[in-house]
Amino acid sequence: MLKTLITGSLPKPPWLSDPTVQLFAPWVVPPDRLSEAQDDAVRLAVENQEAAGLDILTDGEQRRRHYIWGFVGELEGIDTEHLGKKMTRGGRYSNRLTPVARIVGEVVRSKQILVEGLRYAKTLTTRPIKVTMPGPMTIVDSLLDDYYGQSESALAMRFATMLNAEARDLAAAGAAIIQFDEPCFNIYVDKVADWGIAALDRCIQDVAATTAVHICYGYGVPAALSWKSQNKEWGHYGTTLPLLAKSPVNQVSIECAASGVDVSIVEAIRGKDVLVGVIDVGTNEVESPDLVAQRIRKALPYVDPEHLYPTTDCGLVPRPRDVARGKMQALAKGAAIVREGLG
Ligand code: ZN
Repeated sequence: MLKTLITGSLPKPPWLSDPTVQLFAPWVVPPDRLSEAQDDAVRLAVENQEAAGLDILTDGEQRRRHYIWGFVGELEGIDTEHLGKKMTRGGRYSNRLTPVARIVGEVVRSKQILVEGLRYAKTLTTRPIKVTMPGPMTIVDSLLDDYYGQSESALAMRFATMLNAEARDLAAAGAAIIQFDEPCFNIYVDKVADWGIAALDRCIQDVAATTAVHICYGYGVPAALSWKSQNKEWGHYGTTLPLLAKSPVNQVSIECAASGVDVSIVEAIRGKDVLVGVIDVGTNEVESPDLVAQRIRKALPYVDPEHLYPTTDCGLVPRPRDVARGKMQALAKGAAIVREGLG
């Protein structure tokens, strides 16, 4: 019980990508050496998580420049070079148009995208591996459609079919958990009810692995932090979790450490695994194990310990590497304290 894991990403080493451009990390390694450098970065990410004492590992998302493009950018019909501009995330974190990749032709998944990376990560550890992919609603919000002119829901279903094909291949290659990142579920709560859950369910259909959805209030970057510091309305999970209760998805990952969310809302999905965010990814201050233990204990009345997975609020990619390592250690130690108390 109380198995620990991170949401997905870790900061990349500065010899792999420019750390000042965290979320769209440009590679600093020449193309002919990139794959070997990424292998080395994954090896470090796995070692750091093992050394911290985490139970379930990721590859630290060291092979993707950006969490959407890591999957979407490998599909045919997507242009990640000549970007468009669009208001994303409902304008919540920025009221300006932001650069986004474009749909420029028929979108096709003509090859496996993340499977080879999973196979490599599995050679480095005997611990279970989680693989993360962007969810269909968040993909659609992060793209400009210059080709289909379809409704968002139709586009989301198109991507869900391709995510499902990748998820089935990942499960066959031994992924323990396949997680879909849907921060947009905390923004477009009406669309979640209308077609978001249906698209998620299409992603996980007949996938022979544990399936998860991660829903948060964004990375720990200045725009999201400033919105969080002013926000007073935290009712989004109150709408989405009862809807997710009816979905076959096995695990739901939610942000609890840095948001104003009251953890009692997870009662709505009792019976599912809940990945409870107990590490704030927006500060460089490393939590004490006791603080982490306190945050875990707050969730215990609402989720049985065998279904409670202490985790980070979101990806650690914007944090310095030593801070990320410290926070992972605090996560494992905090969980150990609570586990001991439960006997
Ligand atoms: Zn997140």
